[in-house]
Amino acid sequence: RKGSVIITGASSGLGLATAKALSETGKWHVIMACRDFLKAERAAKSAGMSKENYTVMHLDLSSLESVRQFVRNFKQSGRPLDVLVCNAAVYQPTAKEPTFTADGIELSVGTNHLGHFLLSRLLLDDLKQSDYPSKRLIIVGSITGNTNTLAGNVPPKANLGDMRGLAGGLNGLNSSAMIDGGDFDGAKAYKDSKVCNMLTMQEFHRRYHEETGITFASLYPGCIATTGLFREHIPLFRLLFPPFQKFITKGYVSEEESGKRLAQVVSDPSLTKSGVYWSWNKDSASFENQLSEEASDVAKARKVWEISEKLVGLA
Ligand code: NDP
Repeated sequence: RKGSVIITGASSGLGLATAKALSETGKWHVIMACRDFLKAERAAKSAGMSKENYTVMHLDLSSLESVRQFVRNFKQSGRPLDVLVCNAAVYQPTAKEPTFTADGIELSVGTNHLGHFLLSRLLLDDLKQSDYPSKRLIIVGSITGNTNTLAGNVPPKANLGDMRGLAGGLNGLNSSAMIDGGDFDGAKAYKDSKVCNMLTMQEFHRRYHEETGITFASLYPGCIATTGLFREHIPLFRLLFPPFQKFITKGYVSEEESGKRLAQVVSDPSLTKSGVYWSWNKDSASFENQLSEEASDVAKARKVWEISEKLVGLA
């Protein structure tokens, strides 16, 4: 049978390119889990994906109720789940004030981390039951949350601190909207959310890999300077960022190439190692990368996990 993969945020950028790459193999059915149904349908069509290779299902990660509803709908569909890809993200580098999810949680961490945390937890059993040769849970990471790299050292740097803001629910009322309890900074909130993504992947690995055989992985797909992720940035930045990445840092990667990389993490029979953060070198060969100290801190990973469980109503 075909493999069955859910990709969140498959309506543009990396998610769409990955959906396209997988659907073209004819070996995968892609469930595009998207907040904008029509946009996703149009995107699939203009990417040339053929109808029998994908299904669009509604998912708004900035609402915990929507996550639960998506999981109910997916379970009712009777499809198996072989691979789950947590890809969607919001990035608000120029926001002066925080905005919030339906549950009153700061939007970047609420969507990128907590929405995916609940989704993954609720779908873990489905992955466990899959009889596919290699079942995987992939959480897209980033270099920007990784302070042992050049890009990860561009201020404001990711830093979860003692997580007092997260413990307080990131509601901007009686707690800060930032994980570390500091003043709101949209770029930092995004980077912090990506650190949570990478910590969560490792915590999943420690808690569930042996028992379930699921491969847990994260990756840095390269700098895809052309995606919608930068849509809220100032125009001058959007103009200069792609050539800067192409010619100066040389970290630039096309959407198509990044999609092939993520598709590889989904389906390559050789990438079964669990607990790994994949990166690619200039010749597009994959290698196991090192994470920064904070992004591989075992105690922090456990703490993020435990607080997150409370915030999404699992504990
Ligand atoms: P895009 O903005 O193109 O894609 C993000 C996707 O997430 C969109 O499909 C968007 O939906 C979706 N999304 C946003 N909010 C929600 C929500 N509440 N519910 C459901 N879906 C939502 O950006 P990229 O493709 O660049 O980003 C994809 C991933 O790659 C992210 O995890 C990002 O952190 C990561 N990444 C990107 C890099 C880059 O250089 N671009 C570098 C490293 C990592 P909609 O289409 O409706 O807006």
